[in-house]
Amino acid sequence: MIRPIVFYPDPVLRQVAEPVGEVTAEVRTLADDMIETMYDAHGVGLAAPQVGVSLQLAIVDVSHDPECISYLRVNGEPATLDDVCPIVFTNPELELGGARDTDVEGCLSFPDLRGDITRPFEVKATVQTLDGDTLVIETDGLFARAIQHETDHLFGKLFIDRMSSAKKMSIRRQLKEMQQQYG
Ligand code: ZN
Repeated sequence: MIRPIVFYPDPVLRQVAEPVGEVTAEVRTLADDMIETMYDAHGVGLAAPQVGVSLQLAIVDVSHDPECISYLRVNGEPATLDDVCPIVFTNPELELGGARDTDVEGCLSFPDLRGDITRPFEVKATVQTLDGDTLVIETDGLFARAIQHETDHLFGKLFIDRMSSAKKMSIRRQLKEMQQQYG
């Protein structure tokens, strides 16, 4: 079932989400619904707070672009994006490293808003799956960027927080319009 996406400045987007404990049928349905909702909205990632649920659960699928990474290891073994996407993960812990990289990002909670965001190019993410497994994902490029963007959502952080101050100035009116429309 497609769920309505929550837009800025909904306060749920600023909450630190609860870690996922027991994976109930409700949590599984939420994940299925989020995948459907993300594809419907043509996104590459979605976090539970973006459908109004303050839980540390997110999904990412960047498999449309196999060239967007230079490597991927899962629990130390080489893997492909098709092996892991769409990935549903909970309770992520990130180790960030390598050079920083700037690229354009968008966010389904900010329709029409895009901007350059600088982030670490590589990530080592330790996450849980809905089956109770722990995965250590090491990657770079767009997959690393999307994992960071979605993990930010789980801790109440939004991509506008990571924009340069010049960019923040330039989008002030757009944000005000969103506050009027969705606040
Ligand atoms: Zn987002």
